[in-house]
Amino acid sequence: MIGETQQWVEKDRRYVWHALAGYDPNSSPLTIAEAKGAWVTDIEGNRYLDAMSGLWCVNAGYGREELARAAYEQLKVMPYYPLTQSHLPAIELGEKLNELLGDEYTFFFSNSGSEANEVAFKVARQYHQQRGEPSRWKFISRYRAYHGNSMGALAATGQALRKYRYEPLSPGFVHVEPPDTYRGEYGGPDAGKRYAEKIERVIRWELPETVAGVIMEPIITGGGVLVPPEDYMGEVERICRENGVLLISDEVICGFGRTGEAFGFMNYGVEPDIVTMAKGITSGYLPLSATAVKRELFEEFKGEDYARFRHVNTFGGNPAACALALKNLRIMEEENLFKRPAALGEQLLGELSALEDHPHVGEIRGKGLLIGIELVEDKASKRPAGGALVGQMISACRERGLIVGRNGDTVAGYSNVITLAPPLSITEEDLRFIARTLRECIGEL
Ligand code: PMP
Repeated sequence: MIGETQQWVEKDRRYVWHALAGYDPNSSPLTIAEAKGAWVTDIEGNRYLDAMSGLWCVNAGYGREELARAAYEQLKVMPYYPLTQSHLPAIELGEKLNELLGDEYTFFFSNSGSEANEVAFKVARQYHQQRGEPSRWKFISRYRAYHGNSMGALAATGQALRKYRYEPLSPGFVHVEPPDTYRGEYGGPDAGKRYAEKIERVIRWELPETVAGVIMEPIITGGGVLVPPEDYMGEVERICRENGVLLISDEVICGFGRTGEAFGFMNYGVEPDIVTMAKGITSGYLPLSATAVKRELFEEFKGEDYARFRHVNTFGGNPAACALALKNLRIMEEENLFKRPAALGEQLLGELSALEDHPHVGEIRGKGLLIGIELVEDKASKRPAGGALVGQMISACRERGLIVGRNGDTVAGYSNVITLAPPLSITEEDLRFIARTLRECIGEL
């Protein structure tokens, strides 16, 4: 078996260019062969609890036969037709998503989160043009946020290390400081307002009549799980309304139950004009994404030829992906997976809270089953833990059969936040395994 594994490793090095990696003749990534629930098994039979749901996406857990069947049945009946026309799985999925969002949205389907954000930017610009404000073309986003890999979505991204080798990117994206209640300059009861004012000031400096939209994740995820003050997103919404700017909620990770609500923005009582979603929509089983557009915006796209939205993709809204997504959402409702993470997240945070006394743990924060553990060199300076320390922690977890994520402030050249985003269907026993393993591994630091 080991000999056989070596052959796969060698072929992997030759033929598969891994995400976020270059050529490394010594690399040996996990090669996963099977997965069930929250657990994945590699080709040698080693089992790991995947506390990252792949890339934050396997919300309903691995190995759901009903999902495979939903795709199979649809593939047999009608495997493909473009959404230049229509098909029933897309209609049904749109209706279901609309219900989850609380009504009033129309959906443009694509294949990835990046594409869903590109669609949001194009819709927003054309919407303003259609209403006689063609100068509104800029977007405001936050430093540390990740919004995707394509030239527009990457321009929206606020992580310089991911961008600087590929610039120039799309023009028109302006960044502001995100709310960071651990390291940032504001704390206390007015922190949410103060951080939102940073956006207000930038809108004013850029000229409101040049700003099309503000894009934000309700909770910055890849930038290190930055949970904002409760009133922050509401303040941002008010500022957007006052300035004729659209609010775009990037729900690629926060959507579909991750934070204990169907969508992350629902924690903060706002109503975004545009909502982008991907990942958990199919629990990662097939590629699919959507850009939900408020109906009053969509209705601006009516009339003569000029008003059409000139955007098409071949595979967006593939019928099998839509049928699978619909089944996924039904399962999630039946098993209460949109709400369950709220209580489970509290439980996990509770079990981890004792770790905050450890000298290398700066802060543990999160909402629902989205948790970040910020590792530091020492508590007093809050200096982020270096690569060696974080690497030691990740390896220790891996040796004990636990896969955790590593995110944070990549601008500074390190990712010192251990992230957890396990499947929302995770058992309480598996959740205790995560907490116990982390306690052991942090204890060893
Ligand atoms: N937005 C957010 C918040 C994301 O986390 C990601 C991916 N991690 C994207 C957009 C881009 O999604 P994709 O990788 O499917 O293009």
